[in-house]
Amino acid sequence: MALELKQRGQDVTIVNDSSLPSSSKVAAGLINPVVFKRLLPSWKAAELLPFLLTKYQALEILLEQKFHHSVNITKVIENQHELETWKKRANAEDIRDYILEEIAIESPTGLKSTDVLGYGEVVQSGYVDTTLFLTAAAEFFKKASCFIETSFSYNDIELTSAGLIYQGKNYDFLVFCEGFFVHRNPYFSFLPFKPVKGDVLTVSIDGYKNTKVLNKNFFLLPLIDGTFRLGATYDWKNLDFKPSESAKEDLLNRVADYILGKIEVLKHEAGVRPSSEDRRPILGPHPEFPQLQVFNGLGTKGVMLAPFFAAQLANHLLHNAPIDEEVFVGRFIKN
Ligand SMILES: Cc1cc2nc3c(=O)[nH]c(=O)nc-3n(C[C@H](O)[C@H](O)[C@H](O)COP(=O)(O)OP(=O)(O)OC[C@H]3O[C@@H](n4cnc5c(N)ncnc54)[C@H](O)[C@@H]3O)c2cc1C
Repeated sequence: MALELKQRGQDVTIVNDSSLPSSSKVAAGLINPVVFKRLLPSWKAAELLPFLLTKYQALEILLEQKFHHSVNITKVIENQHELETWKKRANAEDIRDYILEEIAIESPTGLKSTDVLGYGEVVQSGYVDTTLFLTAAAEFFKKASCFIETSFSYNDIELTSAGLIYQGKNYDFLVFCEGFFVHRNPYFSFLPFKPVKGDVLTVSIDGYKNTKVLNKNFFLLPLIDGTFRLGATYDWKNLDFKPSESAKEDLLNRVADYILGKIEVLKHEAGVRPSSEDRRPILGPHPEFPQLQVFNGLGTKGVMLAPFFAAQLANHLLHNAPIDEEVFVGRFIKN
């Protein structure tokens, strides 16, 4: 959001408490335009994908780091129903840009092929190295002297007719991008969030070679250094950022059915995804104080959603452009 505003020539100040855990710091960063369950395009894929490609490419130049990678995803197909659905859907207008018709038969090196009928392939997918991206963005803003490393103090907001004053400085708007911690925000905690914890592992796997993401009831994302991210779990009850042993076992059990070699866990991380009740982002002004804005609800798909909707909120702030009803904060405000 801050980069979007900065690129449009705006003065921004970021207040970030990096001692707080964050979902983005642990995210696998996958971009997947397909919902496998019904083999449909993911929400707004046709609009989001071209937008994010252009945006991440421009940001890579600005931040002088390569953090976006195009990688195809292979879906393990195990039964006739899945196989027939894939074949039937592959040429449908809504999905044909995102999946290949041909199903690969040969298994990647190091995979058990018993019971596998083939591998369906998703294109226009990939991932963003979110840690690298965030570190590069923070460096950029620190160099521009507009990054304040501290906890945001809600008591220090003074609302004015023209905007607000925060710790002695005038601003037109304050945009809250607090992820899960929005529940502490006195202005936006009323919003219906339904956060979901996720655990993810970084692993090395003996003898397994695959340059594509492998997807089943887990994903195995190959990283540049030859290790893999293995994820992810969904837990709506234990909303903390502590890695859970049972989630780790669960992930290792799921993948064990497919992998031949020994798996070594190199890192185990957990985060809480800021999902909303209707699983759509939430953006726009506070009902009483329009100088206070929210940008949240990115849920499980922040990497795909953030570029497009940051631009939409920027258009709203700078040009009073309307916000899509599906994501507009007003949908939760009763008159
Ligand atoms: C295990 C896991 C795997 C995931 N995998 C993917 C994936 O493959 N693809 C994908 O697109 N998404 C994935 N996600 C989801 C993704 O992480 C989120 O959609 C996205 O990161 C949300 O970003 P955010 O900026 O809203 O929240 P966050 O990343 O949580 O950032 C919130 C920020 O606000 C700061 N903050 C909050 N309150 C305050 C305060 N009072 N003062 C100062 N600073 C404050 C925090 O320090 C933090 O930096 C995954 C999430 C998890 C947990």
